[in-house]
Amino acid sequence: MEDELLLQEAKKAREKAYCPYSNFPVGAAAFGENGKIYYGCNIENAAYPDGMCAERTALFSAYADGCRLILKLAVIADSTGPISPCGSCRQVMVELCSPQTKVVLGNLSGLMKTLTVGDLLPGAFTQEDLHGK
Ligand code: ZN
Repeated sequence: MEDELLLQEAKKAREKAYCPYSNFPVGAAAFGENGKIYYGCNIENAAYPDGMCAERTALFSAYADGCRLILKLAVIADSTGPISPCGSCRQVMVELCSPQTKVVLGNLSGLMKTLTVGDLLPGAFTQEDLHGK
């Protein structure tokens, strides 16, 4: 799956965002090893902390479908530069993807950059830290 194509899929997911409080729709698309694309958008709530980001919505959707290997994740928003995932999403990417998983970040102006999960959260807290291995 080409970076640009997956980013276009994320743009479609962005249209489904429910964000009446921030008015900042974000879309994500996760490409699984099974060839499926899992979509995510931000979903807000009047009780603000109960909302969810687009990236985690897409990754949780993949896992809920039984997909355990994400090959690439794309995220897009109407941001100044390529959208920057929040810290919580970066931590979840570390858990549910691999350090080498590509993350394509874009904005509506056509700016795009591709990093890896490892680039986004160096020194992440992981299962190994939890169990002292
Ligand atoms: Zn997030």
